[in-house]
Amino acid sequence: MSQRISRSTPAGSSGCDPQPCVRVCNRRGVFSPFSADRVAGTLVRAGLDGCRALTYADRLADLVEASGLAVVSTDGIRFAIGELLTDSGHGCAGAIANHLADGIAEIPGPGHGPLGEDPRKGALREKKVREAMKKAWDDSKAGDPAKRHEEAGWIVQNDDGSYDVIPISSGGKDSVGGYDQIVDGKINGKRVVGRYHTHPNPPPEYEQGPSPADKRNCEKYKLGGEYYVISGDKLYRVNADGSVTELPKSYILVN
Ligand SMILES: [Zn+2]
Repeated sequence: MSQRISRSTPAGSSGCDPQPCVRVCNRRGVFSPFSADRVAGTLVRAGLDGCRALTYADRLADLVEASGLAVVSTDGIRFAIGELLTDSGHGCAGAIANHLADGIAEIPGPGHGPLGEDPRKGALREKKVREAMKKAWDDSKAGDPAKRHEEAGWIVQNDDGSYDVIPISSGGKDSVGGYDQIVDGKINGKRVVGRYHTHPNPPPEYEQGPSPADKRNCEKYKLGGEYYVISGDKLYRVNADGSVTELPKSYILVN
């Protein structure tokens, strides 16, 4: 991708005709036209000086245009901006294009499931669990090569069937423990039924889904069905039979 300084017809702005305007979908499923000017304004409010904000907004507009997508997500735009700010945007256009539509196809929530219901199951239905998983992902600092590290937490179940979380101390670059906290299937007297942890290191060097060790621990501690791995693109669940299901990342990003 070549750097562009001028602001000629960024996708979705007033210059987008005769092509249809690219639309942006937020986490609530609300659409609005993509606007490089609006992105630049957001970046200025975030503290960038105006010149840099315009440059990054233009690069983003190029990426949106090159992606060929009719709809991009606010999460995808955030990811793209994060990449542009940390990587100067060279050589990562393909990765960014892959992320721009993240979460749009399967935005969960009332009315979005196949029968109009919330498609999330088990502990994922509990808002506090989703919020803890999103926090773990955010705290993993996946966008920062120097600081990215794994985060984790336990999913525990109360006698009334409701779920709770017990965060685990931050892990290392590519590992996080905490299994020694489990005594007779419990932590702090609460029944441990699941676990979540993050894989913030990018492919191809790092596996995005559950590792063989993850699967072994899932089986050993009988956490199948509520054992989640949160990576850049996907939310993975190890099921009770050891199989792995790929879920949309939006399952934890949308309330
Ligand atoms: Zn893992």
